[in-house]
Amino acid sequence: MEQDLKSHQYQAQLKSETFIIIKRGLVWATYVSSVLLLVVMLNAYYFDREYFETELLWLKQFPLALTLVSGIVVIKLFGLYRVGRRQAYLYLGLLLVSWCYLLMGLDSLSGIAMQGIESLADVLVLVFALALFPNRNLMLIGILPFLTFGSIYHFNQYSETPIYPITKFLCFLGIVWSGQKIISGWFFKAVTRSIEKKKLLQQFKRLALIDGLTNISNRRHFDDVLIQEIKASLRTLQPLSIIMVDVDFFKPLNDRLGHQVGDTYLKKVAGVLNSALERPRDLVARYGGEEFVIALPDTDLSGAIQVAEKIKRAIAAAELAHPSSGVSDFITVSQGIAQWHEEMEPVQLLEVADSLLYQAKSAGRDRYCAQTLSAVNKAAV
Ligand code: GH3
Ligand code: MG
Ligand code: MG
Repeated sequence: MEQDLKSHQYQAQLKSETFIIIKRGLVWATYVSSVLLLVVMLNAYYFDREYFETELLWLKQFPLALTLVSGIVVIKLFGLYRVGRRQAYLYLGLLLVSWCYLLMGLDSLSGIAMQGIESLADVLVLVFALALFPNRNLMLIGILPFLTFGSIYHFNQYSETPIYPITKFLCFLGIVWSGQKIISGWFFKAVTRSIEKKKLLQQFKRLALIDGLTNISNRRHFDDVLIQEIKASLRTLQPLSIIMVDVDFFKPLNDRLGHQVGDTYLKKVAGVLNSALERPRDLVARYGGEEFVIALPDTDLSGAIQVAEKIKRAIAAAELAHPSSGVSDFITVSQGIAQWHEEMEPVQLLEVADSLLYQAKSAGRDRYCAQTLSAVNKAAV
């Protein structure tokens, strides 16, 4: 676990999850900004009509007010997940500068309309503390301008009580700092658990679909893929072929060299089969014991025969010594090749390939038997 937490992949995932939460926080802060802006305007409208008409609405502040809400437009246009680090932090900077400028501009409000300015700064401290909580430094950058503004504003207004703004500044900073520690601790735990869960799921998936010995797909995975490929062939009217492959005289090899060596040979054969396949959708699986099966989408019989020939050559080239084979000094395989046609169930296709494999065995092994297109004349090579 310790090792996992330090791993590069884990750190990268933690960073990206943190960034996504910060972006969500920015969207939320933007919505709150819009509401606060509306409240400021209503306040000015009711209590200081002159300021509202001359300063706030049309002259100095309006472009800045637009900046406060522009984040929503950006994120709606590009999507939360596509907004990069640079754009997000640039927007955060704009949002902060706009609010500071607006707060300073509100200084020229008169009478009762002024009374809410300090509270507004306090509310903004809360907003940015919550929006940026996953990253302490960013959170401090977000709240310090408003904390400072609130304190200076209070000091200017009521300079006879300097202790109050200082105490308030320190209290706010202390509460937000320690609160951030608690919340980010929860957040860190939650992200760690979700990363672990994802990892476990991947492992389970792998265990469910991969053969433990040879590291290629297992029968379950192959059966699922075959169903999908048959559906694809029905849709696209493209051919689909499969090859059943069985190692010749494997029992005598096991008896002679032992199961351990037999296992090593199975791994090597799986590797050879895997590297004989070139197209990304081709799939080789261990079907059981020393039997393998290959799915070849968009491939007709003649294409599948070419693959079978390639496999024969590749297995021969691997030169895996077989002291008890009746046909060669090295490992050989027999293959049965079948092409899917409409109305054929997956199991029928496998049965055809299996019976062709049996024919190849009976005909002397180290060869393949392919179905003809009419499915009647079976060609032995
Ligand atoms: P044929 O040429 O007719 O295919 O003969 P064969 O001996 O290869 O076929 P048979 O079906 O009689 O024997 C298959 C053998 O494969 C039986 C078993 O010893 C071996 N086998 C099956 N699974 C494994 C495995 O996971 N590891 C090892 N080492 N051997 C296995
Ligand atoms: Mg065999
Ligand atoms: Mg067998």
